[in-house]
Amino acid sequence: MFPQEMSTIVFICVWSLASVAVGLICGFFIGRLYTLSNEPKRLKKEREQTLTALMGVMSSTEQLNSDVGTHNNALQSAANQIRDMETDTRLVDLQAELVMNISKVVESNRKLENDLVVSKYMLENQAQELDRSRKEARTDPLCNVGNRKAVDEALQFMVSRYHSNGLNFGLMLIDIDHFKRVNDTFGHQAGDDVLLSISRALKECVRPEDFVGRLGGDEFVIILEGLTNDNANLVGSRIRSTIELYDFSIANSGQSTVVTMSMGLAVIKQNDDTVSLYKRADKALYKSKELGRNRLYTIVDAKEGTYRAEAEVAKTLASYEEFKASLKSNL
Ligand code: GH3
Ligand code: MG
Repeated sequence: MFPQEMSTIVFICVWSLASVAVGLICGFFIGRLYTLSNEPKRLKKEREQTLTALMGVMSSTEQLNSDVGTHNNALQSAANQIRDMETDTRLVDLQAELVMNISKVVESNRKLENDLVVSKYMLENQAQELDRSRKEARTDPLCNVGNRKAVDEALQFMVSRYHSNGLNFGLMLIDIDHFKRVNDTFGHQAGDDVLLSISRALKECVRPEDFVGRLGGDEFVIILEGLTNDNANLVGSRIRSTIELYDFSIANSGQSTVVTMSMGLAVIKQNDDTVSLYKRADKALYKSKELGRNRLYTIVDAKEGTYRAEAEVAKTLASYEEFKASLKSNL
């Protein structure tokens, strides 16, 4: 009876020591991640993978914490049983030593439990901080929309999803017409303000699930979820004409300006990858510029066309003089 109980106790002791070892390894890993998080370059490179790893460690920590608690109770009860056992006088010393050692293990397990609670708290903070940094690395600082990196990722995601689930979408490339003139007329800061207003206006005229990004300079991108060959022209034209009707006010000057845009739209089709889709949208944008600006050119299912209502044509600012005249009329 006694040797059998002894082997159970020894097993529990070994298990507990193993728990402590796992805890220490976990603690080391957590500490290392904490150090890495203070290195911005590393953060930028592998933020997403780190975040996933952190989540994994967090859930292991939680599991370990609950295991340690459970096994500590078992150990405590084993120590009580040993203490109450009637033993051969030769084994009294061994019995006392066993009880003392189990008590030590129970104590270090309690410490481990506390450490794990602290580590879990640190990990949660760290995960939030990483998430914030990840968003920052994908946001255009001037316009507060996705930057080029975010555009690339969103496009890659949409193309993969189309090939696995068949979910359609359209890629719209946008370039502001004669934007240099806005800078020349009102100054670079005013140009910045107009860029920000444009990005807000673009977000306003699409649905929340659509993606708006800035490629840089005066170039924007919209990824339109669910866009098909049937609704592409309608949706695209609506965005273009909505922007045309905006009055972009110039801060601290009491002035405002109209801004027109040239847009190129392509809808995803079979055998497309990000490059081929982007090329078609870019070709369509080029056509819009070539045909006189302030228009949407679409390449949908091998059919191409330019979209612009007659009434809107009248608003086109064909020359710099016309542009300046329109500014005066807005004063
Ligand atoms: P186009 O109709 O041919 O597009 O004429 P454009 O004047 O818009 O020419 P283009 O698109 O080639 O040039 C964009 C200009 O936008 C160049 C630069 O002066 C201006 N620009 C680029 N980035 C910024 C920015 O961050 N802030 C401001 N204010 N202006 C910018
Ligand atoms: Mg431009």
